[in-house]
Amino acid sequence: MLAVVPPPVTVRVPAKVNLHLAVGDQRDDGYHDLVTIFQALSLTDEVTVAVADDPGVEVSGEGADVVPTGPSNLAWRAVRVLAEHAGRDADDPKVRVVIKKSIPVAGGMAGGSADAAATLIGLAALWRLEITKDELAGLAATIGADVPFALYGGTALGTDRGDRIVPVLARHQFHWVLAFDKGGLSTPEVFGELDRLRAEGDPPRVGEAEAVLEGLASGDPRQLALLLGNDLQAAAVSLRPNLRRTLRAGVNAGALAGMVSGSGPTCAFLCTDGDAAVRVAAELAGAGVCRTVRVAQGPVHGARVVGTEEAP
Ligand code: ATP
Repeated sequence: MLAVVPPPVTVRVPAKVNLHLAVGDQRDDGYHDLVTIFQALSLTDEVTVAVADDPGVEVSGEGADVVPTGPSNLAWRAVRVLAEHAGRDADDPKVRVVIKKSIPVAGGMAGGSADAAATLIGLAALWRLEITKDELAGLAATIGADVPFALYGGTALGTDRGDRIVPVLARHQFHWVLAFDKGGLSTPEVFGELDRLRAEGDPPRVGEAEAVLEGLASGDPRQLALLLGNDLQAAAVSLRPNLRRTLRAGVNAGALAGMVSGSGPTCAFLCTDGDAAVRVAAELAGAGVCRTVRVAQGPVHGARVVGTEEAP
């Protein structure tokens, strides 16, 4: 009897921006405790998983030339983690993962983590596993601290390494402009730079997350704009001084506020509404301070199946 091969599954997964990122001092184990508020944005990667005799990862799109396609690709780590969980052969899982990237690589928007989350969702569907999203989140946290949030999306408060997450009320859609910089920044290097800056003096720290939660609940972008904060921003700007110019250019173009996204170097600008975002994006693109400009809105949902190629 012929075995029926399930059709490929395609999953769309969002980038994240941190509206608030408070970084604690370095712990004895090297990690930093984080208190962060994530928002998922309408800037997405698309990941297709398919049964294949030639297993592996293919990457195209934004930054594809610098993304590893071997075992260090976070999507492949997700394949192995889920295969082990499902009692399948993790060394020969017989799947191919095809990633179309729009999220900037090493851009502080958790693109690699997003691809891992999309792979977990896609494979669970491909292999028809009985597994809940909460169970997938447990596996996701073993791959990376930002992977669980990419599963859920929306707006969420993250604590510990950012991987313990609870959903947060966010009224209305917020409109963002994203400025991609040339090349990425290594997240560990940015944390190291923050430790160095803190050893030299004490750069100002962001306030409490509660105020940001209230700003989100109000739905007023003007209120939220006053409350955005990122402890990693000083470190990212110290490593990439040109970001100061980008941040200034976005605000001069009419954004309510600008900030470095996560560990950077992408800068995120909050705008009054969709029309304002388009205007800010056009002016920022003309200012020549960054490589690419995108408009996005949030919150959007997390990794979600968008199609299977069922035979006609
Ligand atoms: P974060 O905000 O979570 O710190 P980031 O957005 O700064 O992450 P990523 O795009 O997730 O950075 O990638 C960080 C590094 O991970 C890249 O430099 C790349 O070498 C590696 N990587 C592994 N898998 C992927 C993937 N699927 N997409 C992009 N980068 C990947």
